Amino acid sequence: MKDAVVIGAGVSGIVAAYTLKKAGFDPLVIEKEPYIGGSTHTLREDGRIIELGVQSVLGQDEFMAFTKELNLKPLHPSKEHANTRYVYLNGQLKRMPSNPIEFLTSDFFSIFGKIRLLREPFIPPKDDPKESISDFVTRRLGKEFLDKVVEPFVCGIYAGDTDKLSAKYAVRRVKALEDEYGSIIKGSMKKKALGPQGEITSFEGGLLTFLEKMASGIDISLESVALKITKKDDIYTIDTKSGKIQTKSILIATPAYSASYLLRNLTWSMSAELDQIEYAPVIVISAIVKHPLPKGFGFLIPRKENTIMLGALFSSNLFKICKEDENIITIYVGGERRKDVADWPEEKIISQVKKELKQILGIEDFEKYYFKKWKKAIPQYNIGYERFINTVKDIEKMNEGVFIAGNYI
Ligand SMILES: Cc1cc2nc3c(=O)[nH]c(=O)nc-3n(C[C@H](O)[C@H](O)[C@H](O)COP(=O)(O)OP(=O)(O)OC[C@H]3O[C@@H](n4cnc5c(N)ncnc54)[C@H](O)[C@@H]3O)c2cc1C
Repeated sequence: MKDAVVIGAGVSGIVAAYTLKKAGFDPLVIEKEPYIGGSTHTLREDGRIIELGVQSVLGQDEFMAFTKELNLKPLHPSKEHANTRYVYLNGQLKRMPSNPIEFLTSDFFSIFGKIRLLREPFIPPKDDPKESISDFVTRRLGKEFLDKVVEPFVCGIYAGDTDKLSAKYAVRRVKALEDEYGSIIKGSMKKKALGPQGEITSFEGGLLTFLEKMASGIDISLESVALKITKKDDIYTIDTKSGKIQTKSILIATPAYSASYLLRNLTWSMSAELDQIEYAPVIVISAIVKHPLPKGFGFLIPRKENTIMLGALFSSNLFKICKEDENIITIYVGGERRKDVADWPEEKIISQVKKELKQILGIEDFEKYYFKKWKKAIPQYNIGYERFINTVKDIEKMNEGVFIAGNYI
């Protein structure tokens, strides 16, 4: 019998297994793919580092301390690139203001938009757990701020729809400022709370290096799909493609829809509930180009521009990931707003992306490209999301020894 079994070798599963190992346990990780990483999907090819999933992480204090423990040398982009971001507005890349003064003095917002922003501290707070991001931002900061900043920004993080995403869950840090200080502007001035929470971070060899470092010394069974969990007395049996594994402790670190399937024999109705969590599709294209890239981090595209692209990162500006005479641009496509594109064939997507990139940056062709379709990429913290959080708590409470981890909790 195993001490503990972790299902899923994405970052959640690997961190959990590493922590268990450090605490003196001997966990087994089972992973359905022939590689670890989950949505951390680094390719190392021809001297290039290609990230087709997670691009970088925010180096918050706790995370940076952890990288020290792992003896990893973090990499960060220059401030100049990290702080220069664009929004594609009316057929043009516009530099996004990077501080409150610029918001008011640049021509990014109309005069009406600026006046509306200045009214924010005088708008009374409201406590509505069912409020969408669109309603919350329009109420506090105005429609122009929603359309030009928040909608594209939220799309960049969740690939989501601001009309459906819950303000309370999806932008909880910002909503908390209203709850605590009665105003986002007043709260952020008092707490300095809206700036980035850490530096953009990756590692030599890409983000997978972080997972590989933790995974060395851990017992991982690859190409091992967990199919079913059953319980007799206080022992759990996990059926996998290659046999049965018994344990008293299981950590399920798969996406919600897989967890739902795995838990069906332990708790039918609650596991069915987890399957209701919506995921937005995202297509990631990492293109090698000879064309120079503007300085900066990348750009986002508001819904109104009607593109299939959600935005792009100027990846080779951020980290040294390719040869001197080439650049890498990472393009995001689809999301909630263009779910249909996830069913398009690759050639059709590439052809449309090239048309859009030509218009936006003048890039006409790729030297080479890497392509990955994530049909269920990012869980959507839509209105009413607390019901899923409660379901997870109930599943854990009713099944002693079962734990659930992941980015949907
Ligand atoms: C395209 C994309 C880009 C992103 N970019 C960023 C970014 O730049 N920065 C950031 O902070 N976050 C980003 N995210 C979000 C981030 O990837 C996730 O929050 C995080 O990686 C989730 O990790 P996880 O371990 O919880 O799940 P996953 O990475 O999904 O790992 C789950 C693992 O479980 C395995 N599995 C599933 N079912 C079974 C089964 N039955 N048996 C065995 N194994 C199973 C899967 O194969 C997978 O390896 C991005 C996500 C995507 C999809």
